[in-house]
Amino acid sequence: MATSSVVETKPSAVMQTYARSELAFERGEGCYLISTEGRRYLDFVSGIAVNTLGHAHPAMIEALESQAKKLWHVSNLYTIPESEELAALLCDNSFADRVFFCNSGAEALEGMIKLARRYHAAAGNPQRNRIIACGGAFHGRTLTTLSAAGNAKYLEGCGPASPGFDHVPFGNMNELRAAITEETAAILVEPVQGEGGINTPDPGYLRDLRAVCDEFGLLLLLDEVQCGMGRTGRLFAHEWSEIRPDALATAKGLGGGFPVGCFMATQEASGGMGPGSHGSTFGGNPLAMAVGLAVVRQILAEGFLSSVAGAGERLKAGLERLVADYPGLFVESRGYGLMQGLKCQDELSNVTLVNTLRDKGLLTVGAGDNVVRILPPLVAGATEIDEALATLNSAAAELAS
Ligand SMILES: *Cc1c(COP(=O)(O)O)cnc(C)c1O
Repeated sequence: MATSSVVETKPSAVMQTYARSELAFERGEGCYLISTEGRRYLDFVSGIAVNTLGHAHPAMIEALESQAKKLWHVSNLYTIPESEELAALLCDNSFADRVFFCNSGAEALEGMIKLARRYHAAAGNPQRNRIIACGGAFHGRTLTTLSAAGNAKYLEGCGPASPGFDHVPFGNMNELRAAITEETAAILVEPVQGEGGINTPDPGYLRDLRAVCDEFGLLLLLDEVQCGMGRTGRLFAHEWSEIRPDALATAKGLGGGFPVGCFMATQEASGGMGPGSHGSTFGGNPLAMAVGLAVVRQILAEGFLSSVAGAGERLKAGLERLVADYPGLFVESRGYGLMQGLKCQDELSNVTLVNTLRDKGLLTVGAGDNVVRILPPLVAGATEIDEALATLNSAAAELAS
């Protein structure tokens, strides 16, 4: 009560860069969020694919509390055992040999872009510094990551874009081959486009990209900031295509709510990243690493990823039935695992659906291409999935009438 009257009488001191809902939360329990007004919501946003283990997971609380009593931050002047351990864990379970820790997705992308350019520079080819990226991509909000994605709307008014990026349509090999020049250093792609609308290319796409990179000596850079860390039912989404990238950036789900990002690469692709080539004050600090370790250990625990895949199949089956039952509202459902999108017909704005679901106690988030994204915590089970599907069906029945 008190808070809403404050909001009415006094404008927010927070910079108005977001079109925020007035909904505010006081605490979370597993897959649920409890609002400041005491209402329970099923959280199928997960802070945009961040709350991997849901809210207030005991393993994360334990990790944070015990590390908080020991050591928070020392800087990268010193060896940080927790970051050594997390890097080794990530490498033992992926294509990578080296990891650089930072604090966000955009920073991870910036680092990976530097890695690609420095790889070629170190090999005596500094002119190979252009990167081919895809339409519909999202790589972050720094000037260079905005330029990488090339979304004109986000760059508007920001002055000159960063040079060095060429753009081709997502999923199209002919245009991609045609865009390769003597100056091309790398191809950058999201295995599943998140913000763009849960766009899933056909399964051969990443394999074709790998082959083209091998043919022309380019690095294959994957942005798994959203689709990585178990979200699709594998630790990394590219594993579904059985290819190995040269480098990969991830963040969102890595810290389960604590800001942690990283880029990781093979030994060879890390060739230009010697002492002094990159850095971060906060990146990889003991507190962040302790939480990241707790999250990654859970993801890698026996049976965790297969249960994500199983929950994903249950969700996908329900979404397919929903689309079949309401062809006037929905075009299709798409995605992998617990990264699903529901594409709405032109007559139904995704914003309307998100708001209707929210009023019914289910949190979802819009994406490009008039899609509603459904991103449950990876600990969501049959009960939560069925509750969400029931709410979706009830919202569809209401919107169809
Ligand atoms: C969210 C996101 C980013 C940017 O991450 P931030 O932590 O917001 O900087 C980059 N790439 C993809 C695919 C994302 O979903």
